[in-house]
Amino acid sequence: MHWRSKLIHSESKIPSGFRSLAPATFRGSTVVFPSMESVSDSWRQSEGYTYGLYGTPTTLELAARVAELEGARHTFIAPGGQAAIALIYLSFCGAGDHALLPLSAYGPNRELAEGLLKRCQIEVEGYPALIGSEIATLIRPETKLIWCESPGSVTMEVQDVPAIVAAAHAKGVTVALDNTYAAGVMFDAFSFGVDVSMQALTKYVGGHSDLLLGSVSVSSEADHVRVGETHSQLGMAVSPEDCSLALRGLLTLGVRLDALEKATLATAKWLSEREEIEAVLHPGLPSCPGHEIWKRDFTGSTSVFSVLFAQGFTPQRVNAFVDALKVFKIGWSWGGVASLAMAYPLLHRLGERYKGRIVRFNVGLEEQSDLIEDLSQALAAGVKE
Ligand SMILES: *Cc1c(COP(=O)(O)O)cnc(C)c1O
Repeated sequence: MHWRSKLIHSESKIPSGFRSLAPATFRGSTVVFPSMESVSDSWRQSEGYTYGLYGTPTTLELAARVAELEGARHTFIAPGGQAAIALIYLSFCGAGDHALLPLSAYGPNRELAEGLLKRCQIEVEGYPALIGSEIATLIRPETKLIWCESPGSVTMEVQDVPAIVAAAHAKGVTVALDNTYAAGVMFDAFSFGVDVSMQALTKYVGGHSDLLLGSVSVSSEADHVRVGETHSQLGMAVSPEDCSLALRGLLTLGVRLDALEKATLATAKWLSEREEIEAVLHPGLPSCPGHEIWKRDFTGSTSVFSVLFAQGFTPQRVNAFVDALKVFKIGWSWGGVASLAMAYPLLHRLGERYKGRIVRFNVGLEEQSDLIEDLSQALAAGVKE
């Protein structure tokens, strides 16, 4: 062959049989078939490899490992947690359908409901997170999907998921859970009857604030087909490089979660004793709405919680507190190794009680005494303002 052809079709030989502890990163769009007879064009990953969009060994290994951890029949990987949320809506809802979403849900989930989904004539109705079995009164003949997210974003309400599942299943409605807080492991979604469990792998599985990925896990064959068809029709491709980072993240997820739980509880308890703080919203503390349900249903807590500043703290003073933090950085997202803080002065879905006085924290892996010292000096700054 001409050297130009050799550049593309090499006959070079390397030893086979390499085995290491690190899973390989397989990149690829085209999959090569040995003969016409063996050609297939199916999204069904169990039928082998047909096209990079439907999986490479690296993306399928991540999916299989998340499925194994969550006890799912099958897991699909999406380009991010928000993409996973969209995939679930579009798998289970069509024009004229109705879905229910807790008022404490992740903000962009609500934005999707009020934007694209409304244009597709899918009606998404908000419900109070602590509704429990009363959700039955909101289910209509056209209700196709009930979302749970527990604890809720920012306000941290722990939901009675088993009660919501019972009410939904009595009327044949699918229940989807945003299980990001629990990293897919601290709340055993499928044993509580949830049909579809999603996670932003961006958070704890990635664990280092350097990738965006999501997962959608299902327990029934019918849901496997529904989500699989929608996933391939939407072309939800993921990068094998990002999947390999998520696979690496899984190796240390256990020790990171242990360390984060301990440091976060200690930080939350310290804050709960400060007079500047009216309430600490950490599922492991009695001051969090739904704490008793958390004790009943969860095997642990993770790194996110919020505080409600005392009456009299204006949004300006709360902002001054956040601005004064040095070790805690100001930023969205969570689950990485760096401590973060964010105030929500304008978040209108928050009840009057919370308006302008709530700050969410993500605790990272810094030395505990540095975190406490930082909070202490920033509280002093907030008081002075
Ligand atoms: C971050 C987050 C998401 C979205 O994940 P991305 O990967 O950032 O798109 C979804 N749900 C919850 C609860 C989250 O915190």
